[in-house]
Amino acid sequence: MKIINIVVSILVIFVSAAVAGILIYLRPEMTIPIIIIYLSALLMLTISNCLIGIFNARKKSAIEADDFMKVMEDLNTEFILWTDDLSFIRMNKRIRDLMDIGDDDGFDHKEALKKAFGLNDLDNKSFKLIATGGSHEATFKNSSDKVISIAWSTTLVKKVKKRSLYISTGFNFTEIKKMRVNLASANDFFNSSMELAEIGVIMSTDKKKYAASSETVRMFGLKTNNIDISMFRSLIHPNDRMQFDRAVNQNDETDSDVKSIELRIRSAIGTSYRWYSFRYKSIAATDNTLPLFGGALLDITQEREKDMLIERLAYIDEVTEIANRNKLMDIGQETYECSRLLNYSYWIIVLDIDRFHIINDTCGYDTGNRILKDFAHILYKFVSPGGLAARISGDNFALVLRDYGDDELPIRTAKTIQDELAKLAVDDLASITLSCSAGFSKMPDDGQSFLDVMEHAEFALKSVNGQQSTICGYEPSMHDSIIGNTELEKSLALAISNNELQLFYQPKIDLKTGKIMGVEALIRWIKPDGTIIKPDAFVPIAESSHLIGKISEFVLNEGCRQNRMWQKMGFPNIVMSINFTSSDFYQNDLKERVLDALAISGLESKWLEVELTETLALSDIDYAVDQMNKLRDLGVKLAMDDFGTGYSSLSYLQILPITLLKLDRSFITDIQNDNIAFEIVSAVISIAKSKKIKTIAEGIENHEQEEILKKAGCDYGQGYLYGKPMPAEELEELMRNFL
Ligand code: C2E
Ligand code: MG
Ligand code: MG
Repeated sequence: MKIINIVVSILVIFVSAAVAGILIYLRPEMTIPIIIIYLSALLMLTISNCLIGIFNARKKSAIEADDFMKVMEDLNTEFILWTDDLSFIRMNKRIRDLMDIGDDDGFDHKEALKKAFGLNDLDNKSFKLIATGGSHEATFKNSSDKVISIAWSTTLVKKVKKRSLYISTGFNFTEIKKMRVNLASANDFFNSSMELAEIGVIMSTDKKKYAASSETVRMFGLKTNNIDISMFRSLIHPNDRMQFDRAVNQNDETDSDVKSIELRIRSAIGTSYRWYSFRYKSIAATDNTLPLFGGALLDITQEREKDMLIERLAYIDEVTEIANRNKLMDIGQETYECSRLLNYSYWIIVLDIDRFHIINDTCGYDTGNRILKDFAHILYKFVSPGGLAARISGDNFALVLRDYGDDELPIRTAKTIQDELAKLAVDDLASITLSCSAGFSKMPDDGQSFLDVMEHAEFALKSVNGQQSTICGYEPSMHDSIIGNTELEKSLALAISNNELQLFYQPKIDLKTGKIMGVEALIRWIKPDGTIIKPDAFVPIAESSHLIGKISEFVLNEGCRQNRMWQKMGFPNIVMSINFTSSDFYQNDLKERVLDALAISGLESKWLEVELTETLALSDIDYAVDQMNKLRDLGVKLAMDDFGTGYSSLSYLQILPITLLKLDRSFITDIQNDNIAFEIVSAVISIAKSKKIKTIAEGIENHEQEEILKKAGCDYGQGYLYGKPMPAEELEELMRNFL
């Protein structure tokens, strides 16, 4: 081989390597085809140099092209030697095997060449094009229908008279092509999964330019997959941009934990912002890879809205829209601690609208609610900085006022409130005189905690029970005078010993099957003359004395006995629910008492349910959870009664081990017309469901309410529609018809 050929070859090798390098740099995604072409070109160069040598030597040694083919026959590359007039065509074994043809002699060479180059026609033009085109991609099927893809590189070897001899070397890229298809479908699979899960993904190596997944493009109505960080940032709510910047610019690249923030981002639909959870992560650079920053975006607007509803339900009173008991307790305790620390003091005034239930009964709930709202409005006017007005329950309100050394302030304030309330009555409810009573105490002097101080204000209020328009400050000596001194308490004590207490039972219905699944035991005091006294009239009095313990003992034992009796009588098993007050519940021997009642009656624990109110659980949450767990360990069911009455909090569902949630009657009464009540009930049901807690609606009085609750997914129902509280015998009669 001439020296010039060697120099030219070396030059060609270096120049083409440089060109390939530049091309790979500019178009990294074309790396594989560029390498293929480069390697093929190298092979071609070597072979053509070889051929030139052979042809040059031909004269001397008379070696034919056929001799060269012998050399190429077993080469590990597809190889064809051909002239442009197609009079000479030779193919090596490798390409013949691919096309499933035998010896080099026994086949139609032109047809085979046409097939190898993937051509439809045998015209010379096509071959010329291949000869001059340099590289050519061909696809053909072999005899077993397998698709073969070959990249051919063709070079002119020599002109012999009018004919030109070409050499084509092939690169079989069938497998690579399949891989490419697989990669493309993996990408499609990824994009479709993200689309189905509605998760957008953004990735970047420099934190400036981001590659956005097709779902991200759809979510935010982007124009392209390649997005600029500043453009994406402009879609984020101004108040959330700092958070996003902090996430993107986190300096510790070695921290590979997944982190999460919540952002408002303008969505593709309309101009409104939606809430997204942005889970992001940095992957540090390695020797072979660039650092990577990426994140997934998930629309959480619905969950956020639910949270807001829960927050509202937890802290704002629905009727009056002022703080509820929860908020009062939270802020009150903080204020109590500050007052101790900073030597401030506060007045706590607890107010109760006199005979409010009469207004409710005579004028209806709408009027009652309006009065509550107006009353809250009056209270609000007295709130000074650091103070608070809240509705504690029903017609009970609290006012927290900063004390500036004026001991007359609580009385003066309560009097002004009474005057304003009276005016309200004159204006709107001419026939009814509205008044309120107040009890007050001082913080931190009057108690060990905010709750303590507030209970003492309530104590002062109760001490004047029955008398209207009274205002009374707390005195520690009050405890002695209240307990054991009322007439009612005396006769109640007598009633207990005379067995005048009786349990009535109200059925609970499984809304899916329409069958009775349980009963609630509700106590009645039946006087010797037959008058029935409802629990509201005597349970609170019993609660403020030791009598409640006796009552609860009776209810627990009688409830268990009766349920076991029904089982023995052959009625299907149902759950017996009994009501507990906080003084029963916080007894140290609660577990033993329940265990005794079950043992004496022979009732299995799963047929007993204890109903607790939220106030009860709230007063000492840790101890309450402890007591509840003791009952749960026994296998006794736990229901949260009157849920939603103003100081309930859905967040307690996380900690309280309850099995049933009783939606308070106030939500059900007007659920047909009251959209807010419906929304709250639906949200509570779905949240309870997610926590595997069953739900029951109290106070269902008609089929319309029943239908709405069924649709909302409520499990059970209780109310006059199915039966009022009734004596055991009546319930047996009902069970016979119902079950
Ligand atoms: P609760 O546990 O929420 O009981 C439900 C109250 O709602 C019952 O009043 C029941 O008669 C009433 N009710 C049920 N369905 C409807 C309805 O469709 N419409 C209307 N308007 N009212 C309905 P009751 O029997 O007067 O009991 C009042 C409260 O007294 C109970 O509320 C419970 O907190 C307490 N209580 C009752 N029995 C006991 C007891 O044995 N021990 C204790 N500690 N408390 C009891
Ligand atoms: Mg109850
Ligand atoms: Mg209830």
